[in-house]
Amino acid sequence: MGDFSLSSLTDLPLDLWVGGRAVPASDEGRFDVLDPATGEVLTSVANGTVDDAMACVDAAAAAAEAWAATAPRQRAEVLRRAFELMTARSDELAHLISLENGKALPDARGEVAYAAEFFRWYAEEAVRAAGSVMTAPSGANRIVVLQQPVGIAVLVTPWNFPAAMATRKIGPALAAGCTVVLKPASDTPLTALLMARILDDAGVPAGVVNVLPARRSGEVVSAMLHDPRVRKLSFTGSTEVGRVLLREAADQVVNCSMELGGNAPFLVFEDADLDAAVDGAMVAKMRNAGEACTAANRFFVHADVAADFSRRLADRMAGMVVGPGTDDATEVGPLVNEESAAKVDDLVRGAVAAGAQVVVGGGRPEREGFYYSPTVLVDVPRGAEILGEEIFGPVAPVVTFTDEDEVVAMANDTEFGLVSYVYTGDLARGLRVSERLDSGMVGLNRGLVSDPAAPFGGTKQSGIGREGGHEGMLDYLESKYVAVSW
Ligand code: NAD
Repeated sequence: MGDFSLSSLTDLPLDLWVGGRAVPASDEGRFDVLDPATGEVLTSVANGTVDDAMACVDAAAAAAEAWAATAPRQRAEVLRRAFELMTARSDELAHLISLENGKALPDARGEVAYAAEFFRWYAEEAVRAAGSVMTAPSGANRIVVLQQPVGIAVLVTPWNFPAAMATRKIGPALAAGCTVVLKPASDTPLTALLMARILDDAGVPAGVVNVLPARRSGEVVSAMLHDPRVRKLSFTGSTEVGRVLLREAADQVVNCSMELGGNAPFLVFEDADLDAAVDGAMVAKMRNAGEACTAANRFFVHADVAADFSRRLADRMAGMVVGPGTDDATEVGPLVNEESAAKVDDLVRGAVAAGAQVVVGGGRPEREGFYYSPTVLVDVPRGAEILGEEIFGPVAPVVTFTDEDEVVAMANDTEFGLVSYVYTGDLARGLRVSERLDSGMVGLNRGLVSDPAAPFGGTKQSGIGREGGHEGMLDYLESKYVAVSW
């Protein structure tokens, strides 16, 4: 699809998607969507207002009862059709993601496959919302537990996986029988709008999925969280914004699922298969140019193998093709915006000023767009800011260690707890260390953990709740207990 252009997507809505149709913002406002490879304007979309947010909640409320009452099999089949339509349109979707987010096409294609899989998985789960029956310990009655949809859900998603973060919420919400309002990130609203069209084509009834692009995120989300009809917030984004939304949600005691930031440690023990560890590091660091909550952020490598590991990693990073995401040869696209590229640059400069050595990269290439060169830093001092912050770019800081207790303590020394990676040839050590790492997920001799069939989520300030797997649908269901005498 070399000749892809936005205008070839004739069914892409560029307005709000409310009650099954595209509508302009109530004040007719719009905002620009930029191409991160050039900084130029791609197009504009409607800029939702608080009134529009209320119209979305009205539409979700009008559709709620009928959708919750639909046969689970029927909801399953709609989701299955959405999986098939996404798969059929995967090339268009990948190009659209690459265009507005900047990521390289192979990453965008990977995202589309991953994103579509949430619809297939939750099509399969929709018919398995099992409750339970037991006899009360006293023998006086039966305890019947039903699973019911939690209610209208507000879904707020980030720009780094514009398709997958949406389907990971919409899939289980629809399977559970909830209606939703999706507020996509302002950098990447186009993918969410195309998803609205695809879901409509798959047979999702009007009002079940509403999409509200909005620059004034705080105002529209706050208004929805203060509407008593909204019972659920599922947020993926930074821990900073997550904290704000938890406070907002407290006013109406809205049920919250939070997928927040990460600061993943990547441990390489002296007995690891170094080829496998370098391959894993490339995936864990360079998928999406490092713009992933699961990105390896701190490399802890045993002193015996640190020089070898760092050299091999630097060779691989140096060989990567940097360019516009939509070019077929590109392996590393631009970062999403100027702010991101400048933040990565600041973190690297800070590390170097503190004593780190640059093995490869270490700056922004001389070209237009929001690029950062793949970078490996060694001798990074333990207190460096780059080890405490989410880098969200193609930079691998390496720290050496000599002792298992020491590395576990360093890995856990963060407020985040999303994912950790461990490479070792000793399975017993791998499992022992996995148990000791304080994170919701561990990649053991693997640089990629994301799987729609597995529970994704974090401990500590990386979040609350799980997405994917059987657990993912439970976040959209509420147990109702009926005490029965029979
Ligand atoms: P962000 O927190 O800036 O924005 C996320 C979403 O929240 C966007 O839609 C944004 O418009 C909206 N938002 C921002 N301020 C808001 C406010 N005051 N009220 C309501 N909504 C608001 O995050 P981002 O920069 O889009 O994404 C990157 C972050 O997301 C990183 O921290 C990354 O780790 C995290 N992330 C986490 C996961 C996970 O599953 N744990 C997955 C992907 C990304």
